Amino acid sequence: MADSDRARRLVRAASGRMALTEDAAKEVLACFGLRVPRRVVLPEGAPVGDALAGLAPPLVVKVVAPTILHKSDVGGVRVGLPDTEAVAQAVEQMRPRMAGHPVEGWLVEEMAPAGVEMVVGGGVDARFGPYLMLGLGGVMVELFEDVRFGICPLRPGDVANMLDRLRAVRLLRGFRGAKPADEAAIIQAVLQVGGPEGLMMTLADEVAELDINPLIVGAEGAVAVDARIVLHRDHPGLEDSHASDNLSRLFAPNTIAVIGASASSGGVAANFLRNLRDLGFPGRVWAVHPTAAEIEGWPAVPTIAALPEPVDYAYVSVAAARTPTLLREANGRIRFVQVISSGFAEAGELALEAELLDACRSGGMRLLGPNCLGLYSARQRISFIGGVSTEPGGVAVLSQSGGLGADILRRGQVRGLRFASLLTLGNSADLGPAELLRPLFDDPDVTVIGLYLEDVKDGRAFFETLRTAAAAKPVVILKGGQTEAGQRASASHTGALAQDGRLWDALSAQTGAVIVETLDRFLDALLAFQCLRPRPDPSRSVVLFGNGGGTSVLATDAFSRAGFLVPPLEESVLEQLQALRLPPGSSVVNPIDTPAGTLRSERGALGGRILAFLGAAPGIDAVVVHLNIPVILAYADPEILPNLIHGALAARHAEGPHLVFVLRTDGELLIEAQRQEYRATCLSKGVPVFTELADAAEALRCMALYEQFRRQVR
Ligand code: ADP
Ligand code: MG
Repeated sequence: MADSDRARRLVRAASGRMALTEDAAKEVLACFGLRVPRRVVLPEGAPVGDALAGLAPPLVVKVVAPTILHKSDVGGVRVGLPDTEAVAQAVEQMRPRMAGHPVEGWLVEEMAPAGVEMVVGGGVDARFGPYLMLGLGGVMVELFEDVRFGICPLRPGDVANMLDRLRAVRLLRGFRGAKPADEAAIIQAVLQVGGPEGLMMTLADEVAELDINPLIVGAEGAVAVDARIVLHRDHPGLEDSHASDNLSRLFAPNTIAVIGASASSGGVAANFLRNLRDLGFPGRVWAVHPTAAEIEGWPAVPTIAALPEPVDYAYVSVAAARTPTLLREANGRIRFVQVISSGFAEAGELALEAELLDACRSGGMRLLGPNCLGLYSARQRISFIGGVSTEPGGVAVLSQSGGLGADILRRGQVRGLRFASLLTLGNSADLGPAELLRPLFDDPDVTVIGLYLEDVKDGRAFFETLRTAAAAKPVVILKGGQTEAGQRASASHTGALAQDGRLWDALSAQTGAVIVETLDRFLDALLAFQCLRPRPDPSRSVVLFGNGGGTSVLATDAFSRAGFLVPPLEESVLEQLQALRLPPGSSVVNPIDTPAGTLRSERGALGGRILAFLGAAPGIDAVVVHLNIPVILAYADPEILPNLIHGALAARHAEGPHLVFVLRTDGELLIEAQRQEYRATCLSKGVPVFTELADAAEALRCMALYEQFRRQVR
């Protein structure tokens, strides 16, 4: 059991200092069960005498001075000293080199048995709260930054996974005949720091940063031989979240008010009203307008107070400065308000945004935005942009950018995505991604969640929600912008290394959420999750089938880079394929490269027969069919392409490998149109179509990551 009271007393005793002394820091570690060397502190000027009697040589002596961060850099560490005499001599030799530093004393300690030097660090992030860092010590961390992060509290599986992902992990596992390090001891030490009852969780209010550098890990156990604990100046404190309202109504409102629509001159609010009409919104709508009797065919009332019934959702687009007064009057007549107007925090108007939030609270409603574009709900046929379909699907998206939200909707639909909902969040002054995630996990119509995020204010709650959901649904995150923590100055190594988005990698590894870097990859990953059912065993082996030798070679490279194998086919499958007596020039090793002769045989039907065998082949997790449309069209038999595609779709086994298509074009408009047509055919059978092979490789990589995580947590 951790002696957390004692640890807290030790920390409080150092109040006023920026960091604990090494001796006190080690004492704190010991309170949480970590092994530290037996040691004695000799005050500066005191004789060595028999103070060291209880220590077993060889000994180490280190300078103690609050201004010295890296003791060895200034010649302040001596190791391997055989006796008291040698310690006294070492101190005499070191002392003159410490000129200018307020030397408080000398720490003398036992030497730890030899082993691999690791680094264990900790910190408290403004968004995610306590986190932990693990890496190999010395140059591995300083030069290569070979470290992994985890968000606390860590579970044993998280730590094992962090270890596995270290590039230098082989150094621990008996590299070049060395004795393997005691991994169980590493995991134990890491949990003593970052586990549910570990140091970071217990002392998050007191400890800002922690460095154990090194933790020496031998064949039997791990010893923390250097420790630095930096204290908080002031504790940031996590915001308490509001009582949870029933948020599901927000994604499918029945009653809507639109405030700020002009009766004569158009504008976004009038467009929103028109879309509700055009798309066939099934509920009741009121425009709020001082004089008009109706706008875009919907009845108008002069004020919010005049609404004949409370509404689920209000769309507000009026001058920013007017919004607080307007909404303060709502008096419970609006459940959710989305303020489209800009001119708030994003424009430096922090006070106005605070006033808006306050007005919403006193008016009894939850706020979306401000500075956003609106809501899309397929179920209720609502859209903030025109020209989109409301054919319902399972993809739900939260976007912290309005414009990008519109791109996701438009481009996504062209690519075959079918949305349940898309909500733009803007400044997220009140409702943010963390709170809005929960109803999406709960909604049975939602099968995959996409998030475009710039700044998650309540990162801790966001992480907890994802972690609690245990990858029940796939989550794809498109992350824009660096974390603001990046600008914070750091007083430890760990703090400095935590600054570059590595906590997002940690979040991904601990929750199974997949992080992508471009809009296209985001849409492709969502498409893969929309169409394909995750396999119980993570996808690894891929068969490539299609035309174009060079294309097949490049595709093999792309899939290998994405972590897949493109293995030779099993003997039994080869025999089946050979029995088909493929025309000369066909290659049945994987990748299966089918020249014109093969594709044309039986007017394309042979392709389907080949794929039927591949779909049933043992040990194959995904079959990728790539067809170069203009090349096939040039065969002058218009039946070949449809026969190939239908044949491939018909050959799909429900329990078989993932089937994905890559329909390649030359960009020519008529050819693009054909692709779009076949894309629809494939999608109607639940088969995703990608633009290029590398895109398919990336999307399948996201699927494999998710599958791997699911197997780990289930
Ligand atoms: P610094 O402030 O320079 O990081 P450390 O206390 O980490 O000083 O000591 C420097 C190096 O000396 C360590 O990285 C480790 O290799 C070695 N060392 C320090 N203390 C011990 C010890 N008790 N047992 C074994 N090696 C030690
Ligand atoms: Mg050190």
